Amino acid sequence: MKRSQIVFLILFSILLLSIASYAQQQEPQPVEFRSISKNLYEVLGGRGAQGGAYIGDNGVLLIDAKMDEQSVDQTIEQLNKVTDKPILYLVNTHSDGDHIWGNQFFPESVTFFAHENCRNDLFLPKSNNEPSDWYDQKLAPFIPSITFSEKMDIFLGSKKVELWYFGVGHTTGDIVVYFPEEKTAFMGDQIFLTRPQLIHSYKGGNSFEHVKTLSKMLETLDAEIFCSGHSQAVGREEILTHIKQMKGRQEKVKAMVDQGKTLEDIKGAFEENEGRLVESIFNEITKN
Ligand SMILES: [Zn+2]
Repeated sequence: MKRSQIVFLILFSILLLSIASYAQQQEPQPVEFRSISKNLYEVLGGRGAQGGAYIGDNGVLLIDAKMDEQSVDQTIEQLNKVTDKPILYLVNTHSDGDHIWGNQFFPESVTFFAHENCRNDLFLPKSNNEPSDWYDQKLAPFIPSITFSEKMDIFLGSKKVELWYFGVGHTTGDIVVYFPEEKTAFMGDQIFLTRPQLIHSYKGGNSFEHVKTLSKMLETLDAEIFCSGHSQAVGREEILTHIKQMKGRQEKVKAMVDQGKTLEDIKGAFEENEGRLVESIFNEITKN
């Protein structure tokens, strides 16, 4: 083989390898069910947030919808491996696209549930001020049609699922889905463990309320396992640590505001990835 041919082959292999790794980065992990009990699963992988699946006596309740057709198809495929019961209900924990945009790829026969503020959030203008995509009539069957304000129970035969609203936090419409038999709570984006908490100020989210909301959840529910959209399932200890860390940040920002420091100074005193959260806390303190 000539030298030029060898060089060409090497370059060609490098190109193929980089295309493969690019495709891998773009392709999410396949959807996978992680069992919590024989009836309750975490729905991991796919494009969009982690959710849940609960198999009741007469059908299935899902928590959150991922965000594209392939991920929804994979969710249904995995579900069919553990039950042949129909999907009756889907509960959206809040209005972010990675939890709700997939609603439209489920059968129209599914009934969608959410907090009343979550439903309202869907119709907020987009960040570029264009009207929300949810005004499209084609999406009408997939917008949560049953909402509640404080608490609602859904029964699947003898099994009870509790939907709880503990207050403002990540947005104003985040709920907790609680399974008493499993002592397990699905809390959507009300906790991030691998990165600083997201607080969507533009949807009315508030870090000081977030702390109160999580504390109320711990006081009210006898839960031992907490599943969430972007972190591993954890116990009560980790939630308490998260609350403590948030309070610590708030106190530090407050002290610096009292010393007359600017937002830039304050951000500089935190890790770079905390900037967005620190800005929310700063605005909450200075705009009150
Ligand atoms: Zn999310």
